[in-house]
Amino acid sequence: MHKKSLYILFAVSCVAIGYFFLYSKKPSDGYCAFCDEKVVEFQKFYEDDLVLALYTHKPVLPGHCLIIPKRHVERFEMLTDEEITQMGRVIKKVNDAVTVVFETSAYLLLQKNGYEVGQTVPHVHFHYIPRKAGDDSMVTLLFKMVIANARKPLPPAETQKVVEQMKNAMKMGSD
Ligand SMILES: [Zn+2]
Repeated sequence: MHKKSLYILFAVSCVAIGYFFLYSKKPSDGYCAFCDEKVVEFQKFYEDDLVLALYTHKPVLPGHCLIIPKRHVERFEMLTDEEITQMGRVIKKVNDAVTVVFETSAYLLLQKNGYEVGQTVPHVHFHYIPRKAGDDSMVTLLFKMVIANARKPLPPAETQKVVEQMKNAMKMGSD
């Protein structure tokens, strides 16, 4: 490994550790963003009887979506078998739509259970983070993940545009 890469890796690790302590606040006021109708209505591009898919307001990379159960459930093991199955189906549908809208070729699924691993919203959510072919630097990806929450949210018009594109792409792929 080059010396330069080691320095970058070290810098990213420092930022990651600092970020973890600064931003991983324990949710204590009972507020849940994913049970907030305003948040859901604005960011939602898919809905069925059990599951919702949202476009995140602070994307790590373009196409970063969230797949959540409708029911307020804090951790994965508390989901019903039906919810788990349906979330898996929706993740596949979201993948098909993102691949078309954002022309991506790979994706990372990330789902945290518990404060100790950095869960900040106490409602199960799968992050779907896509990536384009050739965009292969792991250091850049880690850095973008670390700073994502500290960044400004997307302008509302931009979110709305993506939500519309995703709604159309999801319809195209429906049976
Ligand atoms: Zn909730």
